[in-house]
Amino acid sequence: MASAKQQIIESLLVQKELYGDELFRRTLVAEPILNEKKELPGKAEKKISSSPKKIEPLPIVNSSSENDFTEKLAKYYQEICECMECPLGKTRNKFVFGVGNPNARVMLVGEGPGADEDEQGIPFVGRAGQLLTKILEAISFKREEVYIANIVKCRPPGNRTPNPIEIETCIPYLYKQIEIIQPKLILCLGTTAAVSLLKRKESLGAMRNKVHYVGEIKTVVTYHPAALLRNPNWKKDCWADVQFFRKLYDEMYA
Ligand code: SF4
Repeated sequence: MASAKQQIIESLLVQKELYGDELFRRTLVAEPILNEKKELPGKAEKKISSSPKKIEPLPIVNSSSENDFTEKLAKYYQEICECMECPLGKTRNKFVFGVGNPNARVMLVGEGPGADEDEQGIPFVGRAGQLLTKILEAISFKREEVYIANIVKCRPPGNRTPNPIEIETCIPYLYKQIEIIQPKLILCLGTTAAVSLLKRKESLGAMRNKVHYVGEIKTVVTYHPAALLRNPNWKKDCWADVQFFRKLYDEMYA
């Protein structure tokens, strides 16, 4: 068993990796500014083009019991996993539905799959995904207890930002996932996820440190982990955002 000194050293190394040279501790965060609740947009009622591709099994991690949510989500996956409704369907390797606990209280929403995700069919598995896992652990969430999905389910070529038509075509699938999972809190990762899900034309900076609503679900905005890898200076703000998010969670479940 590691000594107390060794544990402290390892903890500091993780903090340094996550947040750069600043030493962080849990701090009080500002009271959230509450925005008006909005209706959750309508369900996805889309006709899916079929193709002869092999259907991959639904990636569910740590699904503790066979239950209604699991079954509904698996059924929905089967309905949409061969989608070719927008041009991204033609260039993808794998359809990236989402991963995690179908009973999750917390849902994380990113922009779209990257190369690693396109390869494996699972969101947030590359370097950004590893950083996301560490961020979750830093606020005492296990990756397996949350649900992670993206605005678009297929990788935009060259990791470009999905265009408005691709987003508009694909986002009903995310709304349906939210409707099935019924999370109590959503964390939007990055501008594209936030702008698309919240239907707000604001900068990330303007959307941070506030409580937004997707339907009646409290939603918080922070940086995409890939952006943090490109610009470590944003890690401090991300840390404030995720503490704020954890505080909201604790207020609901403490
Ligand atoms: S990005 Fe969405 S809408 Fe476009 S093909 Fe993939 S699943 Fe279908």
